[in-house]
Amino acid sequence: GGALLDVRGLQVEFRTRDGIAHAVNGVSYTVAAGETLAVLGESGSGKSVTAQAVLGILDTPPGHVTGGEILFHGRDLLRMGAEERRRIRGTKLAMIFQDALSALNPVLSVGAQLGEMFEVHRGASRKEARDRAAELMDRVRIPAARSRVGDYPHQFSGGMRQRIMIAMALALEPDLIIADEPTTALDVTVQAQVMDLLAELRREYAMGLVLITHDLGVVADVADRIAVMYAGRIVETAPVHGLYRAPAHPYTRGLLDSIPRLDQKGRELYAIKGLPPSLTAIPPGCPFHPRCPKAQDICRTDRPPLYDVAPGRASACHFWEETVSEQGERP
Ligand code: SF4
Ligand code: MG
Repeated sequence: GGALLDVRGLQVEFRTRDGIAHAVNGVSYTVAAGETLAVLGESGSGKSVTAQAVLGILDTPPGHVTGGEILFHGRDLLRMGAEERRRIRGTKLAMIFQDALSALNPVLSVGAQLGEMFEVHRGASRKEARDRAAELMDRVRIPAARSRVGDYPHQFSGGMRQRIMIAMALALEPDLIIADEPTTALDVTVQAQVMDLLAELRREYAMGLVLITHDLGVVADVADRIAVMYAGRIVETAPVHGLYRAPAHPYTRGLLDSIPRLDQKGRELYAIKGLPPSLTAIPPGCPFHPRCPKAQDICRTDRPPLYDVAPGRASACHFWEETVSEQGERP
């Protein structure tokens, strides 16, 4: 039993010219087999850095893990040899990046890149590998896949390239995929198609999925649970429907209120005031207090712990009860 991925008290720092950047400050989350966890936050919230620590690809810029554990199938990735870790990353843990064009090799055909996975990890012949590559391209619904195995990345549209990234991630049937803003670079209609495909394949392959995004609009239909991050901490975690119905943190509520809604056309869109803090100078007390419409004196001095709100729900707000009960007053 237990979680597939169990991140415990993770801390990551970066050395910068302005001092130590506290990018991840005690993040804990779990992902069960077959579950989709969306990790939501603005740029600089620590959502990508957490994922990079899980994958062991933190080296650019020079960041390092200063605390915590990352258990995968119950074993701590941080205390494994480099060789074993690389093997797990190649086969059991896969990543989908935002920018397929820079993640794919421009001078190798997509069929060769997909096929290489089967040659290197499964001992397939060149011919078998090409066949498997074509099958995968078909699985991710690239039209006329068989006739396109010899094409190069730049010959595909952005949406099709992102499908190829998904095919690469699926090739070895990993237990867990981490997708970092997988649709952010695409137009809205293509975004929805790629997200639907990812959700469908995740179900079919019964994998765990960590979906990192800044866009609360894309996760409602895809995720089981959401973890909202701010200034390197999780500020709210909840099953997706509970969070939409009644957010328990003012930051989450602000994010929800800033999603454009068809039924409220013409109304001025809400925006959370101000900017996220610099990670070299995170405010004392609640890190969100300079932007929070509900901040009180205690918020400027006392850091809120993650309070249990309900089974499977937690909020790092001193005033979570009021926040939950004020939902009727949403603008
Ligand atoms: Fe706002 Fe205070 Fe809650 Fe932080 S603890 S989110 S400042 S009300
Ligand atoms: Mg990012």
